[in-house]
Order: sequence, then structure tokens, then C-alpha cells
Amino acid sequence: MDYKKLAEIVFPNIYKDIAYLEEKFPERQLKEGAKVTRFAPSPTGYMHIGGLYVSIICERISKQSGGVFYLRIEDTDKKRQVEGGIDEIISALAKFDIKFDEGPFDDGSSEVYKPYCQSQRKEIYQICAKELMKKGLAYPCFCTAEELAQTRAEQEENKLDMGYYGRFAKCRELSLEQVEKLIDEGKPFVVRLKSQGDKEQSAVLFDQIKGKIEMPQNIMDIVILKSDGIPTYHFAHAVDDHFMRTNLVVRGDEWLSSFPVHEELFRSLGFKLPKYAHIAPIMKIDAETGGKRKISKRKDPEASVTYYAEMGYPKESVIEYLLNIANSAFEEWRIKSPEKPYDEYPFKVKNIPTSGALFDMVKLDDVSREVVSKKTDEQCAEEITAWAEQYNQKLYNFINSKPQEFVNSIALWKRAGKKVRKDVAKWSELTTMFDYIYTDFDGEIKYEFFDEFDRQICIDVLKEYKNSYIPDADANGWFENVKQITDKLGLCSNMKEYKKNPENYKGSVADVSCVIRVAVTGKKNSPDLYTIIGVIGSDEMNRRIENALKYLKDDSNF
Ligand code: GLU
Repeated sequence: MDYKKLAEIVFPNIYKDIAYLEEKFPERQLKEGAKVTRFAPSPTGYMHIGGLYVSIICERISKQSGGVFYLRIEDTDKKRQVEGGIDEIISALAKFDIKFDEGPFDDGSSEVYKPYCQSQRKEIYQICAKELMKKGLAYPCFCTAEELAQTRAEQEENKLDMGYYGRFAKCRELSLEQVEKLIDEGKPFVVRLKSQGDKEQSAVLFDQIKGKIEMPQNIMDIVILKSDGIPTYHFAHAVDDHFMRTNLVVRGDEWLSSFPVHEELFRSLGFKLPKYAHIAPIMKIDAETGGKRKISKRKDPEASVTYYAEMGYPKESVIEYLLNIANSAFEEWRIKSPEKPYDEYPFKVKNIPTSGALFDMVKLDDVSREVVSKKTDEQCAEEITAWAEQYNQKLYNFINSKPQEFVNSIALWKRAGKKVRKDVAKWSELTTMFDYIYTDFDGEIKYEFFDEFDRQICIDVLKEYKNSYIPDADANGWFENVKQITDKLGLCSNMKEYKKNPENYKGSVADVSCVIRVAVTGKKNSPDLYTIIGVIGSDEMNRRIENALKYLKDDSNF
């Protein structure tokens, strides 16, 4: 068979060759060991948390090694695309500070290896497919869907390997004349690889995470170009990762079993095989079955990265948590270096878990509480306001109705003397956990403690407190006043004495403080009460005390 002639018949309009592409997309001039990685999503507009996980891994590896991290859009499957899907992905990742060195952007930053959308690389794939055909390693296949179904049925019945190979690869046998005739007749065709593989031989992968894996070589004549000339994932992977000069392919391990196909494609095309790191998917414990399963777009709201933005997790929390999953040593490093930015952590590809790491929302909250506790008041004010503007209009209006002092003290829940409280993991918790700070605190208030203590004493304490409140008192002065009220009402202001002889008193200064705290916040425990009062102001405090008194005096509440 004259393969050159065959290639001309199938690709009459392709004049360029691989040598041209090699020159147009030269090897990158990078320092020794620099890694070129990529994130290669389909533009479905949906950003799965697993995509962010792979992105942060790729980004860390390339940045740390002085390499390149680029975005390639795999938009060959028109059915899976949505309008604006690309922008959605870029902006979802930008929210987590994942920045690409190159990609389909109009900032002129990436001239050499473009285009970065597969739909614009049709000619490149055709040049490569033509070259394979010239070498006798690819051929056109005119089999119809019915014919393929027949083959499948026969293979199934005889329990044979499924697929287009060996004696089932009917179009391998077509003569030049037959091909020419079928093309002249306008018969649709795909282009297939003419596999040279041998099932008895191994394709050996040295995976950077999973180690050495041996699989039988590929023997399938897989489709490389579909009937519209668009490549399959396999072919586009080989062509793009070669000509974009990726040297470390980091991707989900669902692609592991396709490695023998990829290995053959690289070999047939005369390309050097890149290194691979196959990432196990992140899993969760299913609430119903108690078993491990993948985080599912359909079942789990936390599958989408937008969930984390909506909930108001600081971006560093999500990233740090993902780094925790990707490298378990991150946690220890973080304890040893609490102040360092996460990108100083020396990330190691070989330490990525080989199978299903668990994504645990409880752990994410723990990580996030640490992250939030380290933020300055200014950072909190800025982030909370920005989050509220987008996701909680009520809180946003509330913040805007307050004086600047409130905004400056917005993170007051954190203050506990010299210590920092670590209550908050995400901004959406503020209005529920600290409704007495971040809402108008109206509507029905659930008062703790009032039904555990002497109701009349509660009433007396609040009346006394309201009358004796000194607006300008400092924290000590304020507490002295509370002690005086305690003594005046016959309770004990000296805790040591009270602990010795509790039966001599109706309660202590701790109970008196608690009554005031509950009137102001509804809760028995809160951040520093004096600070809260300072922030809400004395008018608001008085309003709340009046409300609490009304509640206490109403028998129907008890
Ligand atoms: N578009 C492929 C996917 O979303 C990319 C896989 C790869 O990174 O090679 O699964």
C-alpha cells in the first residue's frame, strides 16, 4: 500500500508536517528540573472541587520548580459545553488565587504555544494524523454504527475482547481504490490508529505518585479523529501535551487505564513520553451507607467550588485544606510555621495519596478556624463586607448602617483577653453564631439561663444594672459596678468566698454577669461582654435589657 498516497487522499488540504510544528512550538528554555504542568478542563461551566484540587497541585509543582502552569480548554465535545463556561472556570480559579502563566487570555502573555482551546487546533491534529497515515500507522474507517454494533454483538457472544482490533478491524484491509471511491461518494469516516501493540508485552508507566505500573500494551485501533475531524481525548492529549511542551501530566486516575493507548500514540508520533502523576479522586463518607464514595456533582453541594465562596470560606482555608489532603505533611509544617504563607510549603508530588483521600467538612472547618483566627481585623472587615455584598444582602445593609467603629471592630468575636477565640470557620456563620453582633437582634429571642435561675433576681439585676450603668466606664469600672450590684442584691461578689460557702448566698457575681450577658446576647457564653456592649452602643444595650425585662415579667414564658 502506498501510505503517502493514502494520506494525500484523506488529507488533501494539509500541506504542513510535524517538522513544521516542532519548529513552531519549540522546546521550552527552562532551568533543569522545571515542571511544565497544565489544567485541562472541559468548558462545562461547572468547577468541581476535584478540579481545584488538581489545579492547586499543578500550580504548586510548577511554581516551586520554576516552571510553567497553563490552562488548556478541552472543548472538543460540543455537547458538554455551555456558554461562558471558559470564563466561569477562569474566574472560579482566580477566586482561589490560582493563576495561570499561559492560557486562552487576550493579554498577549502567551504567544508561542497558542491556541489554548482545542477547538482552534484542528489543523495541528490533522497534520499529526496525516503524518501517522504516511507512516502506515493510521487509516480511515468507514464502518457505520450498525456494523460496529454487529461486531460488538459477536464479541460479546464469543466472550472476546471488545473493540476495533485484529480481524475485527475491517477497514485496515481497504485498498487505495476503495478508500478513494468511498471518499468520492462522500461517505463519512473516522481516522483510526493502526495499533502495533502486542497484548503479551507490557506498557510500563513510572507514575510519579503510584510508582511502576505494568499493563498489557494497547492493541486497539482507537479512533484518533472523529468524522468531523475533531480529535478524541487520547489523540489531543498526545499532540497537545507534546507541542505545548508539558513535561508532567497531572490528571485524574480515571485516565490510568488509558495509559497504554497514550504510550503507543506518543511512540507512533515519535514524541518523548512526558512524566505522569495520576491523582486519586477525593472521596467522602456517604451519610446513608457509611461507605466511601466520590464527591458527586449530583448529590453533594460541596462538590462545586462555588459552594465554598457562597458559604464564605476564606480562599486560603480551602486551599490549605486541599494541600492537607494532597500532602499529609502539610499539617505538621503548618503547626511549625503558623505565620508563613501556604506557598512556602515544600510540596512533594510523591507524597500525594495513591488512593481515595477523604474530604471531611469538619476538618475543613478546623483548618478554616485557624486561618480566620490569624486574620487581622482589617482583613476580616474587608472580606466579610465583600462576602456580604455578594451573598448576604441583609448583613451587608446592616454593616453599612453602622458607624465606622463597628466596621473596624467587626471581628470582635475573636477577642478574649490575650487569647484569640477560634469560633468562626466561614462568614455565613456570623449571623447565626453571633446574631447579637451581626443582626438587629429583633424577632423572637431565645434566652438561655433565665429559666435556670431565680426569675426575680434576674429582674432585679437588670433593673439595677440599667440604672447604674456608666457609659464611659472602662472595663474595670464596668465590672466594679457589676460587683456592687451583686452585693447590693445580697449575692456574693467574692468568688473565693462564694465557692467556700455557696449555701450562704442566692448566687454569685458570675450569675449576675450571666444575667446581663443573656439579656444582651441571649447566650450564657459569649465573647467579652464589655467589648460587645462597646460595639453595639448603650442605646441598643438598653433596648435589649428592656426586652429581656418584658420577657422575664411575662408569666407565659415560664
Ligand atoms: N479534559 C480532561 C478531563 O477533564 C483532562 C484530563 C487531563 O488532564 O488530561 O478529564
